[in-house]
This record gives sequence, structure tokens and C-alpha cells, in this order.
Amino acid sequence: KIIIGDRITKSFGEREEQRNVLDELSIEINEGEFVAIMGASGSGKSTLMFALSGMDEVNSGKVVFGDRDLSAMGENELSDIRRTKMGFVFQQPIMLKNLNIIDNIILPMMRDNRKNVASISDKARALMKRVGIGELEEHDITQVSGGQLQRAGICRALINNPKIIFGDEPTGALNSKSAQEIMNIFSEINEEGTTVLLVTHDAKVAARTERVMFMRDGKIVSELKLSKYDGTNMDTRIEKVTRKMI
Ligand code: ATP
Ligand code: MG
Repeated sequence: KIIIGDRITKSFGEREEQRNVLDELSIEINEGEFVAIMGASGSGKSTLMFALSGMDEVNSGKVVFGDRDLSAMGENELSDIRRTKMGFVFQQPIMLKNLNIIDNIILPMMRDNRKNVASISDKARALMKRVGIGELEEHDITQVSGGQLQRAGICRALINNPKIIFGDEPTGALNSKSAQEIMNIFSEINEEGTTVLLVTHDAKVAARTERVMFMRDGKIVSELKLSKYDGTNMDTRIEKVTRKMI
């Protein structure tokens, strides 16, 4: 197991009677797994991702990453783990406007090892080429399309060779062709051994993963096991996901 959430509860605000956004939720993710989380808006998907990545403290229960209990760690240690072992992709990548694409990508690297800028840049260039934006290094972030920017966001998430990638609606702002291309990249990364955990509203996206969990009111209420996607039976996979959604 790479991540275990054990009866985690999360609520916001002070008041006792406030409902739990995560309600004694338990979840286990295997190393190397490709998993999707679905659920209505407000069901707690993003909150769960924040909890599992140690970005947000839980009120009770615990989160274990590898063999480390995240709930017992201080913020410095947590942010080290996030920077070196985890990668994050959001609906829209948050990029610094005064830096060009490649500098935005290498930013997480510069933070703890400023030893060899040349080799870090080489790695960034290789990643960019791989996801099909090799020609855009020097571009401003305002000069590229949404799909290209999302590819750059993925490069940034991968620059430290994370054990796990968290994606919160990574294809949410993209048209369906770009979305499938982004999913091809996630599939490849996963095939190379990186665990991938995605939140999505899109059955077509979820159908590309190997296990889909469905949330309602802060709980995981059902689960669908698929096989790893091998490029076949997409229609059947989508149908299975859709049937579980309703
Ligand atoms: P969406 O699909 O719309 O992104 P979600 O499933 O990701 O929804 P969350 O963002 O996890 O939902 O939010 C779950 C609930 O927790 C919502 O009712 C939301 O209003 C509440 N919530 C989330 N973050 C906070 C916060 N920082 N302060 C107060 N309430 C919050
Ligand atoms: Mg959300």
C-alpha cells in the first residue's frame, strides 16, 4: 500500500454540529495503482485529496504514506514529502506569469537542490518533449493553449520523480481530445510504476483507470474494479462506470 486513510474525519469551522465533509472514511491505494474518485459536487473529493497528501490536517483518523504516519508529522517534514515524493495536477496549473514555461517546470527542483541547473533543465526538456511540448520551453505561459499548459503542469508534477501523482480534475478544463491525450500521458506514467490518483466527473476519464471509487456525503459508497486499460473495450468500460454513477 502506498497510502492508507484510516477512518478519517474532516470538518471545517468550529461548531460541533457542523457536518463532516469526510465522515470516517477509509481508503487504501496500492503502490502502482491507477485509481479514480468520482462523486457529486460537494461530496468531498478534493477534501479527500488534500487529506491524503497531507496538505490539510484531518480531525480524526490517520493517513499513512508508505510507512510514515502523515498525521503525526510537522509541516516542514510534510512539505518535504510533498515536494519530493508527490506530484500535483489541478484543473488549471498555477504558474508564475513572470517565468517562462521551462522555468515554471523546474521551480520545484530549484527549491531544494540548486546544484546542477543544467541537468535539471535537461530533465525538464526531456519531459516536455515526451508530452509533446518540446518546442515551447521559452514561451510565456500566456502564449500557449490550455492543453499545452496542462502538459507543462504535468511536467512540473513529474520533475522530482514522485511516487504518486494526485490529479484533481486534471482534464476538467480541456476538450475531449485533449483530455484523452492527457490520459495517455497519465497511463504511460502509471505503466512506468508511478501511482496515479485522479478525481474526475468524466466517465470517459474514469474508464481509463483500473479502479473507480464513488463518494457521497464524505464517504466512499461503492467501488468498481476494472483491469488496467490496454486500449480495448473502451465502450464497455465507460458503460460500467456510467452504470455505477447512477
Ligand atoms: P467539486 O466536484 O465541486 O470539486 P468536491 O467533491 O471536490 O466538489 P469538496 O471541495 O471536497 O467537494 O468540498 C466538500 C464540502 O466541504 C463542500 O460542502 C464544501 O463547501 C466544504 N468545504 C471544502 N473546503 C472548505 C473550506 N476550506 N472551508 C469550509 N468548507 C469547505
Ligand atoms: Mg473538488
